[in-house]
Amino acid sequence: MAEFAGVSVSDISASASGQQHFVAAACFDPGQLRLRLPDSVEIRFDLKTAQVLRLSAVALLFVTGESKSGNEDKNSFSRALKFEFGTENESRDFCSAVEKCRHGKINGTSEGSLENGTVIVHKSKFDDKIEPTSAKMYFHYYGQLLHQQNMLQDYVRTGTYYAAVVENRIDFNGRVVVDVGAGSGILSLFAAQAGAKHVYAVEASEMAEYARKLIDGNPSLRERITVVKGKVEEIDLPEKADILISEPMGTLLVNERMLESYVIARDRFLASNGKMFPSIGRIHMAPFSDEYLYVEIANKALFWQQQNYYGVNLTSLYGSAFQGYFSQPVVDAFDPRLLVSPPTFHTLNFTNMKEEELYEIDIPLNYTATVGTRVHGLACWFDVLFDGSSVQRWLSTAPGSPTTHWYQLRCVLSQPLYVMAGQEITGRLLLVAHSAQSYTIYLTMSVKMWGPGAEQGGILQTSTGKLDLKEPYYRLSQPQPYAWAQDQQQPQQQISSLDLSPQIQDAVDPALMQQSSPNSTAL
Ligand code: SAH
Repeated sequence: MAEFAGVSVSDISASASGQQHFVAAACFDPGQLRLRLPDSVEIRFDLKTAQVLRLSAVALLFVTGESKSGNEDKNSFSRALKFEFGTENESRDFCSAVEKCRHGKINGTSEGSLENGTVIVHKSKFDDKIEPTSAKMYFHYYGQLLHQQNMLQDYVRTGTYYAAVVENRIDFNGRVVVDVGAGSGILSLFAAQAGAKHVYAVEASEMAEYARKLIDGNPSLRERITVVKGKVEEIDLPEKADILISEPMGTLLVNERMLESYVIARDRFLASNGKMFPSIGRIHMAPFSDEYLYVEIANKALFWQQQNYYGVNLTSLYGSAFQGYFSQPVVDAFDPRLLVSPPTFHTLNFTNMKEEELYEIDIPLNYTATVGTRVHGLACWFDVLFDGSSVQRWLSTAPGSPTTHWYQLRCVLSQPLYVMAGQEITGRLLLVAHSAQSYTIYLTMSVKMWGPGAEQGGILQTSTGKLDLKEPYYRLSQPQPYAWAQDQQQPQQQISSLDLSPQIQDAVDPALMQQSSPNSTAL
């Protein structure tokens, strides 16, 4: 029979009065775990309803669910114990023993029994949707302190979360909190500072180990925080949460597809009437005009115009290269005066939306140009709301607001549109999720033709683009468009003198090229 001596046990049950630590010997009977304490006290646990979660190489969370008066209520756990073993092997053997004894089998392998070290988990929605290679790279990225530091040093971001939590102490004080994707554990620590009864800091990457260290270094808070290493789609928690806190936003709000994990965490862990911080997110959009950016992108493909590159004609790839550059959304901070009409927004309500609604997001576009200009595409940014009981606070990534590490995002069309002041711009922004934790962006923008003949037909000039949100062009080392928009003439000649794609060679009436001056865009 498997026996484990000198196991360090902490009782972290909600019912336990404070945290209780003891060293015990663990042994198994069919369907039962027995813990023998030094003073010859023995505690028995029914393994049929028990779940074991791996917290680290040597630590496990053991949760027993006891059926109340015969009702199988899987969510009513009576006991949550943290076990720490001397070695990783011991911890694995313990998991294995739990599985074997759960079904009354102690010796020998049997059909359906698990390999050493396997931990029973829920079938993961995450694994069904996301390519393993993408997930591996993603969690490797977040496992590094430098990337967590980058987020922590975004003071607009971290400061807004801090303010939202401490100003709404009433929502955290005495409450059970789940931090969805805890990273360094910073939001868990904020929640604990605001008086949380207990915080479960769930983090899938190796950062979970650093979060443990960071939390350990804050003795006044650590007793009330448990780091759980794993995906929110897969781990289990011993109790329901009164409030979820998370920072699941990527570029254009939805990049990384972590909002889906946030919504899944809501369904799995949040008590009914529980709160979510943040509760809603909004994608804001407006057409923009930026001749300088357009030329910069178009120029990148010029390399492929060479007919004699070491004796090789490159031109057959010019079209593909040109489209390739326009398939990259541009990430940078731009001057809001580049917008040619007031923005619109699309709201995602995290508190009641279905996870599946994030697979395809279809946004109709409708604007009225406030200036006559060339429209080069759609500018996007987002904000999220902390709907606290005391104070409502928005975290905004808008152009003109203090810059965040998300900057803004612009989808540039390879074929610009010509608009007059007062003209209507319509279209569609369709975001389709893909298995590399991002989205394909389908953008269509149209304007009614104007000038001779327009009255008869109302012919549309339409421009479309297909972009991959996973492959953005970070334009941050480039001079900001702000500089030339204020001080310089736009470089119109550059574009008309270039031998670009046939569409772009179309004659352009110089009058239409009139760039909005810094003060002309009334917003
Ligand atoms: N909350 C931290 C980190 C935010 S970054 C902060 O505000 O500073 C998002 C974190 O969520 C990353 O560390 C990432 O590894 C984690 N994460 C993403 N998807 C997850 C999932 N499905 N389950 C658990 N953690 C996840």
